[in-house]
Amino acid sequence: MGRPEALEELYRIDKDLRLLTQAVAALQWDQETYMPPEAVEGRADQLALLEGLTHDRAVDPRIGSLLERVGSTPENPRGDEALPSLDRDFLRVFRRNYDKAVRLPGQLVRDAARAEGLSQAAWAEARRNNDFPSFAPHLDAMVSFAKKKAEFWGFADHPYDGLLDQHEPGVRQETIASLFDPLGKRLSELVRRISAAPAPDTSFLCAEYPVEDQDRFGRQLMADLGYELSRGRLDLSAHPFTTTLGADDVRITTRYFRDNMTSGLFSIIHETGHALYELGFGPDIRGTCLADGSSMGIHESQSRLWENVVGRSRAFWRGRFPALRKQFPDRLGSVDEGAFYRAVNAVRPSLIRVDADEVTYSLHVILRFDLERRLFDGSLGVEGLPAAWNRGMAEYLGVVPDTDADGVLQDIHWSMGAFGYFPSYALGNLYGLQFWRVLLREIPDAESRLAEGRFDAVLAWLRERIHRHGCRMLPEELLQSVCGETLSILPFVEYLESKYELLYGL
Ligand code: ZN
Repeated sequence: MGRPEALEELYRIDKDLRLLTQAVAALQWDQETYMPPEAVEGRADQLALLEGLTHDRAVDPRIGSLLERVGSTPENPRGDEALPSLDRDFLRVFRRNYDKAVRLPGQLVRDAARAEGLSQAAWAEARRNNDFPSFAPHLDAMVSFAKKKAEFWGFADHPYDGLLDQHEPGVRQETIASLFDPLGKRLSELVRRISAAPAPDTSFLCAEYPVEDQDRFGRQLMADLGYELSRGRLDLSAHPFTTTLGADDVRITTRYFRDNMTSGLFSIIHETGHALYELGFGPDIRGTCLADGSSMGIHESQSRLWENVVGRSRAFWRGRFPALRKQFPDRLGSVDEGAFYRAVNAVRPSLIRVDADEVTYSLHVILRFDLERRLFDGSLGVEGLPAAWNRGMAEYLGVVPDTDADGVLQDIHWSMGAFGYFPSYALGNLYGLQFWRVLLREIPDAESRLAEGRFDAVLAWLRERIHRHGCRMLPEELLQSVCGETLSILPFVEYLESKYELLYGL
C-alpha cells in the first residue's frame, strides 16, 4: 500500500518549505561573507519577501485539513497508528512546526519583526556608546513580544517554558534549574581552586601568527576531521557560524586574528562539529523536516564535543602538535606539546562569554538563564538588569565589568528577542559528555586513535547513534536511546574535575 494522498501532499509542502528556507540561508550566507556593503537594502527586501512567502506556505489553511486526514491532531500529532514510524515521526515534527507558526497572529509576527530590526540597531549603538538606558525601551518591547508569543504557543506553568520549547523541545525551566543550581556550585568551586594555582604560560599564543598559515592549518584539520569539502566551504565572517544551504551544502565560517591563533582554530573545529551533524542526516530523512538537529542543545553537544573534548585533549595535540609547530616554526619552535596543551586549556574568569574557557563558560550561561527566568516570571524588570548582571558576575565568576558594554550589553540574543536560547549552550556540554562517556565504553581505543590523528571511528559512532536520526527523537529520547539515562551534570563535571585537577596539579 502506498502513502495516503494527504501524506504525499504534506511531504510536497514540507519540501517546498525546506527549499525556501535554504534559499533564504543562501542569501544570508552571502550577506555575511561576500556581499558588497551597498547591497544591504536590496538584500533586506529580498529576504523579507522570501520569508513572507515561506510563512504564508507554512500556515496554508490546507495543511490543517491534510493533517486531520492522516489522523494528526494536537493531542495525537503522530497520526494514524497504521502508518510507518518514519511517517509518524515526520507528522509529529511537521505538526509541531505548523502549530507554532499558525498560533501566532500575522500582525504580531510582523510587528515583532519590525521591532526586532529597530531593537538590534539600538543595541549595536548602545553597546558602542555603553548606553544601556537608550536600549532599555527596546529590550522591554522584546520581552513583551516574547511574553505574548509564549501565551499563544502555550505553556504549563511558567511563560519561559513556552520560549524554551522552541530551542529545546520538551525541556522545562524547572528541569534546567535543577541541573544548573548544582552545576553552578561545582563549577564555581573548581574555578576557585584553579585560580589559587599558578597560571600556565600563554604568552606564545598571542605572538604574531600569519593569517594565511592559520588558514592552511585549519583547512587541513577540518578535512582530517571528516568534513568533506565537496559538500561544504570555509569562508570568513565577523562572527563564525554554520549554515545549511542544502543536504549536500553545509558551510562554515571563521575569523582570524594575527595575534591570537587559537580563536580562529577552535572556531573552525566548533563549526565543523555543527557541519558534521548536518551532513550526517540519514538518506531516509533527506530533504524533509526530520533532517534537522534534535534541539539547539544537541547541536551544541556536537560542536562542543569536537572543539573541547576532542580538540582540547592531550591525545589530540599529541598527534597534531608536530604539524602545528612545523607550520609556525618561529613561534612554536621552542614550545613543547605539554606547554601548548596547558596554554590552550588555561582557565581564567573573564567578562565575555564567547571568549570564556571550558570551565567558566557554563557559568556565563547559568547567569543568563537566571536573569531570563526572572524577566519572565515578573520578579526582574528590564531597568534592574544591569545591576542584577553585575551581582551575578560577582557571585558566579568573581569578576565585575566596568561597563555595561562588557556586561549586560555584550550578547546580541536579547536584542533579537531570542529568549530561552542561552541554556542550549550549557545543555550542549551536558549532553556531549553523556554521549562521550558511552562512546569511550564502546570505542575503548578512541583516545589512542585521536593521538594518531584518526577521527573516523569517532565520527562513525556519532553518525550512527546521533546524526543519522536528525530530529526523529526529542533530546530526552535521544539521550535515552544512546545513554539509557536522563540529563545529568555528572559526566560533564567529573570530566572537568579530573582533567583540570591533573592540568593544574590540584
Ligand atoms: Zn555552536
